[in-house]
Amino acid sequence: MPRPYEDKVKELLGRMTPEEKLGQLQQLSWNGDTGPGGGQTDQAEASARAGLLGSVLNIHGAAHTNALQRIAVEESRLGIPLLFGLDVIHGHWTTFPIPLAQAASFDPETARRDAEASAKEARSQGVRWTFSPMMDVSHEPRWGRVAEGNGEDPFLTSAFATAKVRGYQGPADGGELADDGRIAACAKHFVAYGGAEGGRDYNAVDVSEQRLRNLYLPPFRAAVEAGVATVMAAFNTVAGVPAHGNPHTMNEVLKTEWGFDGFVVSDYTGVAELIAHGYAEDGADAARLALNAGLDMEMVSTHVVDHGTELLAQGRITMERVDDAVARILQLKFALGLFANPYADESAEITDPAPEARATSRAVAARSMVLLKNEGELLPLCPAGSGAVAVVGPLADSADLHGTWGGPGAHRFPSVSVLDGIRAAAPDRTVTHAGGDIDEAVAAASAADLAVIVVGEESRLSGEACSRSDIGLPAGQEELIEAVAATGKPYAVVLFNGRPLALGAWLDAAPAVLEAWHPGIEAGHAVADVLFGRVNPGGKLPVTFPRSVGQIPIYYNHENTGRPYDPQTPDEHFRSRYLDLPQGPRLPFGHGLSYTSFTVSAPCLSRETISATALMDDGATVEVAVTLTNTGECVGDEVVQLYVHDVAASITQPVRKLRGFERVTLAPGASTTVTFRLGADDLGFWTNDRAGTFTVEPGRFDLYTGTSSETEDRVTLRVVPD
Ligand code: BGC
Repeated sequence: MPRPYEDKVKELLGRMTPEEKLGQLQQLSWNGDTGPGGGQTDQAEASARAGLLGSVLNIHGAAHTNALQRIAVEESRLGIPLLFGLDVIHGHWTTFPIPLAQAASFDPETARRDAEASAKEARSQGVRWTFSPMMDVSHEPRWGRVAEGNGEDPFLTSAFATAKVRGYQGPADGGELADDGRIAACAKHFVAYGGAEGGRDYNAVDVSEQRLRNLYLPPFRAAVEAGVATVMAAFNTVAGVPAHGNPHTMNEVLKTEWGFDGFVVSDYTGVAELIAHGYAEDGADAARLALNAGLDMEMVSTHVVDHGTELLAQGRITMERVDDAVARILQLKFALGLFANPYADESAEITDPAPEARATSRAVAARSMVLLKNEGELLPLCPAGSGAVAVVGPLADSADLHGTWGGPGAHRFPSVSVLDGIRAAAPDRTVTHAGGDIDEAVAAASAADLAVIVVGEESRLSGEACSRSDIGLPAGQEELIEAVAATGKPYAVVLFNGRPLALGAWLDAAPAVLEAWHPGIEAGHAVADVLFGRVNPGGKLPVTFPRSVGQIPIYYNHENTGRPYDPQTPDEHFRSRYLDLPQGPRLPFGHGLSYTSFTVSAPCLSRETISATALMDDGATVEVAVTLTNTGECVGDEVVQLYVHDVAASITQPVRKLRGFERVTLAPGASTTVTFRLGADDLGFWTNDRAGTFTVEPGRFDLYTGTSSETEDRVTLRVVPD
């Protein structure tokens, strides 16, 4: 692939000493960072001055960024600008819902809008690179980083990854990277981090080639196709080889097979961790293994700069490899326009959430919420109703609903609490409040006409290093719900959480439950928008909710056993099931209700057979169409979903895999046709071949359509050999 700026990069490389080249491969944490590796402020300034630093992580405003950039540009021998990176994950000043919540919108445009708004705020402070999107598919709700990804499905995650890359960077050719408001994206964590054993963060992942390629790799491939500028290596091992030193995933798959021409950055001290993994003997060995496996930039630990010269002299790394890594980094610096325009414009710095950004965040948050139950149509509530509303529970008045990785905005700006959101939405109603004390909550509910119970996980309970062994509601919350329920007053439960929860028996009794995730800065307003019907909820679960921790992993896109559980013969003994639980999930992937109702017609195929050769070689496709009708009384959204099952294949296939979804808004009584087009990508799979073989095998395919992964509406397609 011809690289833009190739001549400029070559010319510059030709003038660099080996030490200056190695310096470009170093990223230091600049200030105020107390994580492993500590603050590296003095080191960053000295290295920048000596021309021995490529990038800096963590920044504190435009003036601060400019000060260090000035040292690099004006005082170093070659004046190569620094690349400033930051974790802009779901907002910078204006926090948006966590990425898991955004996935629940089943509308990738929400992710694009978040990325675009966040890029604008961050870029104004000198940030030119974000460590986002995180696209680790996971079947492990105990893992705290589920909050940062898009759930358990690779197709849904790919769509969101693509949208987010576009939102940060603009079009795939990188032509807008230098424009104001654009920043470079980073696809992370490469790869299979979401498979951490037991959901314990950083843990080993032993994964077959076919699972790697069918489950974990597709979102990264989608991000590369969307032009993602960089990729970050993952902390975990992949089949015994740490991702930071893995030539198969980095060199063979990412760079050679996919032709990725950006650069790979380590995760925080990830190169040094090759020693703790038991993969490298010492720092020099770690640097050698990482560089030779395809890693290009080291974050925080300094083994590449510390040992690079000696490794080159010993022939344990080559100058060619170092030049390649430097060229990839310089190319991005040119593409970002850093040489021409290295400084942030301090007069245009954004330092707080603008009203338009808040409005976007609020709309995205409401669009991300999932109505789990609504019996007796308790919801929506009437804003002008006369009865008093008691807003109770430990999170009712919480002003930290930003979720994990909220960025600087989460530290400086409170989120709108549910209590304040409800007060603003229903100014004429009496609104009372009690926190997490059960007696006070019961008293408040008893004195009111209805209760809104606000429970779930605080922001700090999900995210990096926040694995939980028990994913029920935190202590005392179920008791609080049950006590309020016992008052006999109608009640709705609002849940905040950064992962699927194992919801207790209270769920069966609760009349109405709204899954609000961690919605960001406008949390309370967005919750009130949905509770009072200003927004009709249309989100769907992007993850399976288990009945208990013992059921994990449980996910919709599993393979069958030879003795699958059969609901028609539930007492048959020798079946794949638990003796002590009802089978199946508590809430399935794709589930979500609305204040209106919909019907979906039986699926209709454009053809009943299609040739495998035509699919693979000629791009042939088949269409599946359904008619969606709003049969209720208000405007609403439904997400029509399409799942594929390859009934018999040389590698057993998931019982269903999502291959199409579309969120549609319909007026009452209105109908529309939703058409999905399926091609080789949708009907084929990757084999266990390490060299990468994708195939569509002839045979029967069941295509399911409906409004959750449990739909039974299907049509059969036959793939014939020619
Ligand atoms: C996380 C990354 C993050 C990096 C820099 C690491 O601990 O795993 O996701 O981008 O820190 O903050």
